[in-house]
Amino acid sequence: MTLQQRDKNHIWHPLTQHKLNPNIIGITKAKGAVLFDDNNNAYIDGIASWYTSMYGHCNDYVNNCVYKQMQQLDHVVFTGFTHEPAVKLSEELIKILPDNQTKLFFGDNGSTSVEIAIKMALQYHANLNHNRNVLLAFEDGFHGDTFGAMSVSGLSVYNGPFEKHFLEVIRIPVPNKHNHNEILNQLKSLNATHAIAGFVYEPLVQGAAGMKMHDADGLNSILKFCQTHNIITIADEVMTGFGKTGRYFASDYIATKPDIICMSKSLTAGLVPMSITSCTQKIYDAFYHDDISKGLFHCHTYSANPIACTAALAGLELLQSDAIQNQIKKIIAAHKTFATSIIKHPKIKLVRQLGIILALDLNIEMERYGELRNQLFDYFMSQGVFLRPLGNTIYILAPFVITNDQLNTIYTAITNALDDF
Ligand SMILES: *Cc1c(COP(=O)(O)O)cnc(C)c1O
Repeated sequence: MTLQQRDKNHIWHPLTQHKLNPNIIGITKAKGAVLFDDNNNAYIDGIASWYTSMYGHCNDYVNNCVYKQMQQLDHVVFTGFTHEPAVKLSEELIKILPDNQTKLFFGDNGSTSVEIAIKMALQYHANLNHNRNVLLAFEDGFHGDTFGAMSVSGLSVYNGPFEKHFLEVIRIPVPNKHNHNEILNQLKSLNATHAIAGFVYEPLVQGAAGMKMHDADGLNSILKFCQTHNIITIADEVMTGFGKTGRYFASDYIATKPDIICMSKSLTAGLVPMSITSCTQKIYDAFYHDDISKGLFHCHTYSANPIACTAALAGLELLQSDAIQNQIKKIIAAHKTFATSIIKHPKIKLVRQLGIILALDLNIEMERYGELRNQLFDYFMSQGVFLRPLGNTIYILAPFVITNDQLNTIYTAITNALDDF
């Protein structure tokens, strides 16, 4: 039996309506920017397996570091114990985070990094006896699939059955060049009528919304307003973190720094799941108390797993290397050239780029996971390219290690798709 046939017996896949999409592709190996299926077809991983494998799949350097660590210390409870990989990771990560970040809290995945951030914001106010429990978030944001994260996600097309269990959230529009004053006026009146605890946002790029990009100055003025009124700002950098925008963090483009930052995808170089929620001293100090109940009583069993921390350390080293920084520059330039060449195509509505993230909106209307969109996905796979269009948005977020030839294969597949659809 093939992998696909055996898979059908017992496996329930994420984001999958099995009745409509019964055929799951068996992947047997991966190296660099390429995935191989069980018929030995190769696919260029144009989305770095959901923005995780940025230094390439099965990276030898990462694997060797992890192999050594596995023989030294595999796992230990992180309550009451610590270890070298976690401490070293804290020292190295703090160096590249925005200057105001001083403390790191470990979690398991992007969603829980957001849960932790929301708990930090709500309990910050509770510990200081402020009666604040409303959260602000952008329209069309995505922050994960646990309840707190779902609550702040505006993209809740598939969250209908859960909505009545959500936290109290008010949505504001994303800033563009023209609506700064409108948003600030809205914030003023919201702040006068609601007890707002925090603001959760994807800085500059809303990934799941289809790599929608917004205005940095507008975001900066929202953050300034929040910080003036002690609304805790939470940057969800789960997608944007670690070099994808051309800087280490999207927050590096914005003068006002967040109180809390969520990191996960690509933190561990795509090897194992882990997340970190970082915060400022101000947040940490509100929990530092003689009263035990003022502490943050949140824990995941695998908190700061030494293997995951080691993978993250190797990833940070690679990220800061000349080799990867040069690759980032190369991809940014290649995307620019491709964007310029394709922008006039009659089937292209809009092209946008930040760093190595390139997104194209087609003139063709498509449901997020509709029939036409699925045909487009299949078309790319037939060209040896793994891309995951979101509705009529095609985006590329390839591993930093992608070669020029592989990039050109992706561009050609997209150009051909425009002609054939
Ligand atoms: C993927 C993502 C999450 C959720 O992360 P998981 O690891 O899938 O739980 C949260 N926020 C953003 C911006 C993401 O892209």
